[in-house]
Amino acid sequence: MMTDWDDFGVSIFTRMTEESLQHKAINLAQGFPDFDPPKEILEEASSALFNGFNQYAPSFGLLPLREAIAHYVAKRYQLSYSPKDEVSVFSGASEAIFSVIMALCQPGDEVITFEPFYDIYQGCAFAAKATLKTVTLQPPTWEFDLTELEKAITPKSKILILNTPHNPTGKIFSLEELQSIAKLAEKHNLTVVTDEVYEELYFEPYVHSSFAALPGMKERTIIISSAAKTYSVTGWKIGSALGPKDLIRRMRIVHQHSVFCSATPMQKALIKAYELPESFYENLRKQYTERKNLLLSALTKKGYHCEDPQGTYFIVAKYSEFSSLDDLEFSLYLTRQVGVSCIPLSTFYLDKSKARKLQYIRFCFAKNLTTLEAAAGKLTANYSAS
Ligand code: PMP
Ligand code: GLN
Repeated sequence: MMTDWDDFGVSIFTRMTEESLQHKAINLAQGFPDFDPPKEILEEASSALFNGFNQYAPSFGLLPLREAIAHYVAKRYQLSYSPKDEVSVFSGASEAIFSVIMALCQPGDEVITFEPFYDIYQGCAFAAKATLKTVTLQPPTWEFDLTELEKAITPKSKILILNTPHNPTGKIFSLEELQSIAKLAEKHNLTVVTDEVYEELYFEPYVHSSFAALPGMKERTIIISSAAKTYSVTGWKIGSALGPKDLIRRMRIVHQHSVFCSATPMQKALIKAYELPESFYENLRKQYTERKNLLLSALTKKGYHCEDPQGTYFIVAKYSEFSSLDDLEFSLYLTRQVGVSCIPLSTFYLDKSKARKLQYIRFCFAKNLTTLEAAAGKLTANYSAS
């Protein structure tokens, strides 16, 4: 249990990137691309810098960006949000998640999510003095037990965070799963916060649709997303939230009294990004499919057990065939001895010491094919760690 910020320690993403640099390993750990965003977006950013977009932006985001995001969401999910008071810009999905939890939870309230979960959910709940409760997705197919979910919900439960496509597992929640979650959300009056940062990264035959598009769910859902993954700009930290007026109003208050506003030139540049034609997204998925297949076949060849991810840019691999080490030890071994870094899956669990024994690691394939080929060469070499 976390009782102090010191209990959280250094993020595994920071640690594994440092380890990669120190040991000159190929960094398939922290989730970021090793390639640039599309040239037209970079040109927009450069033009914004040289044309006066260098001072504070309006606290809720540049209006044309909010309009572009509302338009994009309308096109994707046939959902209509008013840019004026139902769309807001944050410093990454991270800040939007922090703001919604701070805005909606009182000390002692509960936030429910599926485990493994993206690590910051726990820290954000901690900041609000709320408790993160989890329902486990069972490997290897990452399904959950609906009865377990209903049991986890109490009168103190305020928010359910639903991350689909799901980091780290690559799972896309099926329509049946989403419908069953919707029923419970309605029955127990939960606000559903959807973390859709990987919304454009899905692989045939899977598709992503927002939970908010289910009948009756728009009124109780906050859609959170980010430009980071879709436009390959993880360093820009521009995210968004869309939802009912009153909830967005409360999130805006948290934002105004912490960050106040997000980086102006990056917001300006992203207006054009959200207006890119469909061919951009089709091409993005085509490239990511190729990257995924390359890494997946190397891992499988070596004897890792992997499910083909349905979405995201991550592959989860079980290494029990050739090592008895726990997942942190094995991740360090792979980084230092084999030259490829990864993330131990236990990072994404509440009970990390128990999860270390599951022997799962996560690889990121948001990399150039040359990087992935080099990593594949190392990963398929002759090694075993006992
Ligand atoms: N949610 C998930 C599931 C993520 O993987 C990440 C990492 N990018 C975030 C939220 C945070 O997004 P951002 O970088 O826009 O803050
Ligand atoms: N979202 C990224 C991942 O899952 C990492 C973000 C971070 O470094 N904090 O790898």
